[in-house]
Amino acid sequence: MKGIRRSHQMFIQCFMSRGFLDAKEVKHLYKSCCETFGDAYLADEEERRKLLLEFVLTINNNLRQFHMEIKKGVSEEDGSNFYGLVNMSDNNITRLASDYTTNELELFKKIVEFIVVESATGEIGSIEVVNLTEKLDRRMSKNDAENLINRMEEDKWIRVKQGRISLGTRAILELEQYILSVYPDSATICNLCNKLCLKGQTCGSCDCKLHFHCASRLFRGQDEPKCPKAGCGEIWSHDIPNRDVTMRSTAVEQEDRHSRTRKRKLRH
Ligand SMILES: [Zn+2]
Ligand SMILES: [Zn+2]
Repeated sequence: MKGIRRSHQMFIQCFMSRGFLDAKEVKHLYKSCCETFGDAYLADEEERRKLLLEFVLTINNNLRQFHMEIKKGVSEEDGSNFYGLVNMSDNNITRLASDYTTNELELFKKIVEFIVVESATGEIGSIEVVNLTEKLDRRMSKNDAENLINRMEEDKWIRVKQGRISLGTRAILELEQYILSVYPDSATICNLCNKLCLKGQTCGSCDCKLHFHCASRLFRGQDEPKCPKAGCGEIWSHDIPNRDVTMRSTAVEQEDRHSRTRKRKLRH
């Protein structure tokens, strides 16, 4: 493979076995790949970030022939970054077939459909999930459905909080194209980042939607936030998520810089 060193191989192998890593884990993995095989691991953060991008680009250039790619995603919960090894050739849900039975995938499809088409908040409750099991060709017991939810939560396909189920970080990354192509009329794109937006804030008078972290980024420091969609300009009537969320959400590579800035501020 072109330009692939042993450090790249170690990086790919880790992604192949884990599938999915958050920004902090990627940073540590990159460091240990460099150290193990004597690649330069630069002290300067900005330069190191550039090298990491090049490193991943080299990998992706080689993985493309297998229709795979290491792709970056952003959590709808807090805007944090995560990375997954994604199969680009087939973005259908049935691709998960090796881990789940056909009937389980049917239920997951119905859950995805409910979240995208029916739900305004990007969530579904457990009672609604049980109702969906009744629409399956082959019935599934409540216990089996609960079991499935637990397994899918472990695999990061879904997220469960206070009994509400939403799509997990992995589903957002891997199923974005599937959702956009199957539900073009219901799936909404965030006005700021242009990515699929299931959870977030919607304008009171048009269909403009923003992720929580994108609203926070867009309206930071504004006294009277207005809808960013061209021709609308309606007052944005939602509480803007606090700035801490945005600070936390910034790429891990920038975290050190933030803490340095804060320390510097304190010294003044
Ligand atoms: Zn967004
Ligand atoms: Zn609007």
